[in-house]
Amino acid sequence: MGLKRTATTAVERILTNPLYYGFQHVKAWKHNPGGLYPLKNHEPIVDPTTWKLVNEKIKRGSKERKIYDDKIPLRGVLRCHCGKLLTGAASRGKMGKYYYYYKCSIASAHNNINSEKAHKQLSGALELMSLPEELISSIKEKSEVEMEITLKEHKTLLKQHQIEYEQAGEKLMSIEEKWITNRIQHDTYERWHNELTTKKESLKEQIEKLRHNGDRTFSLLRDQLFYLSDLNYVYTEATTIEKQELIKMVFDDYLYYENGIYRTPYIMEPFVRNELKIREMGYLDYTKKRDNFSIIPSSGAGEIRTLVQSWYCIRFLHV
Ligand SMILES: [Zn+2]
Repeated sequence: MGLKRTATTAVERILTNPLYYGFQHVKAWKHNPGGLYPLKNHEPIVDPTTWKLVNEKIKRGSKERKIYDDKIPLRGVLRCHCGKLLTGAASRGKMGKYYYYYKCSIASAHNNINSEKAHKQLSGALELMSLPEELISSIKEKSEVEMEITLKEHKTLLKQHQIEYEQAGEKLMSIEEKWITNRIQHDTYERWHNELTTKKESLKEQIEKLRHNGDRTFSLLRDQLFYLSDLNYVYTEATTIEKQELIKMVFDDYLYYENGIYRTPYIMEPFVRNELKIREMGYLDYTKKRDNFSIIPSSGAGEIRTLVQSWYCIRFLHV
């Protein structure tokens, strides 16, 4: 309510300000080295792990280079509690067999996890996060109703756009005619020409989108939803790239590891189930740290859309 910053970086500046987790940048002075130091008499309002995860996410952008290895599929998605993505490596055992590890490049004391153990834990968690069959059929029913409504809306919108598209075309022709017959100045012609061409192009794009999107999402949902009754199967059968997309989506890129257990502040809403058991089994500790604002709990519509989008992404993102 009292925020004075208006620059496009305003939110980023807030998120990257260490004051929020009780630290402060101090400049080097005389013999004292500079760096980040904890503040006295200042209570942090964000815990350090959340702050670091968020800041890793900001820093990363799209620059990150990725080398996929099927033996260590979590390299590139699983994080250390310090926020850094874990790297993976192999080491040779006494019998010549290779063992794979996930570790933190900042300090091996942070994390050094046997990949077999890590994979078993993840499978265990995913299995327990699977959707019960009743939920799947109820989502299917609801989504069919939702989709029908959406498709109807799309049809109406499509008609509207097509009419507007034709009108823009006619106007464009009339402008050209006026210019050819010397009834308007060149700059007037140019202004209208540009405006109408841009409008036509954007309408064409929207028309194309409306023609293709609806049907595809619907059939995808119908065909793929069933598999969510065994999330671990979905994960196991997926390629490494698909695995990473799935994990990133379900945990919104927040999955990390600390003291022998996976942890996350976020799980995609439909998969939040059996949390206590999953923690007791030592697989995953889910401590909710933010509200899932994209979900509309009353109708379930948000969840369904999220699911459809997930599937859409997983199946087609890597083509
Ligand atoms: Zn670390």
